[in-house]
Amino acid sequence: MVDKVKSEYNQNEIICNQCGAKLTFEPGTNSLKCQYCGAENEIITEISEIQEIDYLSFINNKVNDSNQIEIITVKCEACGAETTFDENVIAQTCDFCASPLLAKEGQSKKIIEPESILTFKITEKEGKDLFKTWIKKIWFAPNDLKKYAYQKGKLNGIYLPYWTYDTSTTTQYKGQRGDDYQTTESYTNSKGESDTRTVTETRWSSASGTVHNNFDDVLVVASKSLPEKYIYKLEPWDLENLTNYNKKYLAGFKAESYGIGVEEGFGIAKDIMQYEIDSTIRSDIGGDHQRINSKNTDYQDITFKHILLPIWLSAYRYNKKVYRFMINGRTGEVKGERPYSWIKITLAVILAIAIISLIVYLADTYG
Ligand SMILES: [Zn+2]
Ligand SMILES: [Zn+2]
Repeated sequence: MVDKVKSEYNQNEIICNQCGAKLTFEPGTNSLKCQYCGAENEIITEISEIQEIDYLSFINNKVNDSNQIEIITVKCEACGAETTFDENVIAQTCDFCASPLLAKEGQSKKIIEPESILTFKITEKEGKDLFKTWIKKIWFAPNDLKKYAYQKGKLNGIYLPYWTYDTSTTTQYKGQRGDDYQTTESYTNSKGESDTRTVTETRWSSASGTVHNNFDDVLVVASKSLPEKYIYKLEPWDLENLTNYNKKYLAGFKAESYGIGVEEGFGIAKDIMQYEIDSTIRSDIGGDHQRINSKNTDYQDITFKHILLPIWLSAYRYNKKVYRFMINGRTGEVKGERPYSWIKITLAVILAIAIISLIVYLADTYG
């Protein structure tokens, strides 16, 4: 039963010592604030060096339970998002897809404890203003959406799960190097005379070698609940400001538990690292052009950590489709999906045709 399991994420024990009300983390500060009496309590976090976990030991199950915590989550049947569950706040709809939440009870789950966190800097008020500004700027947005943007309490503060990986790589490659040279060729010009001109050609030669790369904090989102193309566009994150994780930072917010495991995440990290490895290979080959025919990368000293990053999220339904709007909770970077109002587009087209017809008519009459 939910009550009997100790939840690391639940915030029920954090209450105001002045008035007994629930405290929530105040974005932009390092404090918990009472929404009723205004009392602020600074969060004291024991500062320790950020610990990376050894990847191979972990996947071979040599890591003990000390890295793991138990949390209570609730899962959306529609989109699969699994977020922390607060018994005091029964959510009616999923924050990620706006579907009705069927599960009314949380489930206990063991996860790797987050090592560090970036806390919210952007307040809910600032987030709502960013949402309104974004809505104002987009063309042909349905009026329903504008109305929705001005409603209250539709922006959800969520910590998204991420993995970061460190590794050093050794890559053996085979490829080709292209060197440009100038040559003179004969041709027949437009007057039918024979002429010469200079052309650039490329001489290819085979190339092979070994390159080394070092990677620090390759960032992989451990969630499948939001469209990848938007979530990666919320970057950059100021990872240099990561602080030690403390569950108090989550007070008043939700956290999604990771849906992409450590190993799957490393596969994604490999794809991300390929770009840098390829560019190292290209500069190693040299010349004016490079071709990479094959490569083989060896990953050494792989370590990882689990971190939480803050976003403000709004999921809205329009014509049975879900559209999402998200804000980087640190920088205020905004990304969103948007519906189009076909009525507005049609009216605009009709208006444009009318104006063009009028101009044509006037030109014919008075031209
Ligand atoms: Zn209080
Ligand atoms: Zn959902």
